[in-house]
Amino acid sequence: MTSDSPPALPAHDVLIVGGGLAGPALALALAREGMSVALIDSLPAVAGNPRFDGRSYALALASRRLLTNLGVWARLANQAQPMLAIKVADGRPGEAPSPLHLAFDHAEIEEGPMGHMVEDRHLRAAFDASLAEQARVTVLRGAAVVAQEAGPSSVSVTLADGRHLRGCVLVGADGRESGTARRAGIGRMSWGYGQTAVTCTVAHERPHRGTAFQLFLPSGPLAILPLIGNRSSIVWSEKDERAKALMALTDEEFLTALRPVFGSFLGHLSLDGPRFSYPLGLTLAKSFISARLALVGDAAHGMHPIAGQGLNAGLRDVAALADVLAEARARGEDIGGAPVLDRYAKWRRFDTATLALATDGFNRLFSNDSRPLRIARDLGLGLVNRLPPLRRAFIREAAGLTGDLPSLMR
Ligand SMILES: Cc1cc2nc3c(=O)[nH]c(=O)nc-3n(C[C@H](O)[C@H](O)[C@H](O)COP(=O)(O)OP(=O)(O)OC[C@H]3O[C@@H](n4cnc5c(N)ncnc54)[C@H](O)[C@@H]3O)c2cc1C
Repeated sequence: MTSDSPPALPAHDVLIVGGGLAGPALALALAREGMSVALIDSLPAVAGNPRFDGRSYALALASRRLLTNLGVWARLANQAQPMLAIKVADGRPGEAPSPLHLAFDHAEIEEGPMGHMVEDRHLRAAFDASLAEQARVTVLRGAAVVAQEAGPSSVSVTLADGRHLRGCVLVGADGRESGTARRAGIGRMSWGYGQTAVTCTVAHERPHRGTAFQLFLPSGPLAILPLIGNRSSIVWSEKDERAKALMALTDEEFLTALRPVFGSFLGHLSLDGPRFSYPLGLTLAKSFISARLALVGDAAHGMHPIAGQGLNAGLRDVAALADVLAEARARGEDIGGAPVLDRYAKWRRFDTATLALATDGFNRLFSNDSRPLRIARDLGLGLVNRLPPLRRAFIREAAGLTGDLPSLMR
């Protein structure tokens, strides 16, 4: 550093690159354990802007527990729609859904709704409000990390404006194309599906009664997910070319294309906001850790939204890493040391790789119009539907209640 370079900011326990969704959750979880955190994001503040991100998330029961423990849920509860039932069916445009369908009802497990739907803008606003009240977290927005260096007892990052920050451990929460992982030399397994998700919110005449619908069409799944009021979030996965064409339509033309696949069960439809598109693919970091570095969220694993599990898996990383770092700190260990980070990787890597590959297989099985496959999967759906213990097992899995739960999710 030269004498006229900007002064280094004070050292923190943890530096988090990425202030999307996993990053803020981790910052709050670590601050709650008494750690000082710098949360850095290249974007300016976007919370509350409905034009920034059109996604709505199915947050599993375990994720809601985490947000409750972090004090975020209290800010969101009024905007969150409980998911009381999920209906899954095989369908083709213009045809009635297959009679062999699968229906999940939250009343089949004692813990209550298996999940809630929340809109991105509300979730980000709730995170921002909680961060603003947390003195142990320094939030730097509009600050891109361009370099990082791990040493024997600390790690540092350099921002695009030349400032440096130091901490004991660096966390990459910087999304699917994680520069933090790349700079640490961590490779990725990635492939595209040739599918793009077109998402939007629709308003409808009749109430959805908290029911989510997943319809499997030959070109990809269509999810109709209940939001507060007579509104639903649409995630329409289509082949890339078709998705591009759907995005180019006027609102009225788009609704004309949507109506035959959506059906008429919710009455008259209208658009409630802009359309967004997201190219779909799988990406899995070859390691979740490196020297003084851990990856969480999409930086570690980006998956197909078919089962609505991407963010839920990211929040489980957050809760697991918070447990591991808090325990290490209580025992007087170096929180950026290899044995500590190794415990995190062992906890999360196998589970997330299995989940990402399961969503991959699920998408391939259902985005296919082969007749024998259609018959096999319809029989499979019908079979699960007729076996209550199997159905309950699916609901518990979707609610995130299985496996080794971190303390923030218990
Ligand atoms: C259509 C669709 C529907 C989905 N539905 C669901 C659902 O129902 N349920 C569910 O659980 N999941 C769902 N997901 C998945 C979910 O959206 C993602 O898992 C989640 O958004 C990932 O959050 P993240 O914080 O890990 O990453 P991101 O949200 O990608 O955040 C990364 C952040 O890092 C910042 N950044 C990047 N590089 C730098 C840098 N060099 N310096 C500083 N900052 C940087 C970026 O600005 C960004 O803010 C869906 C995904 C899609 C595409």
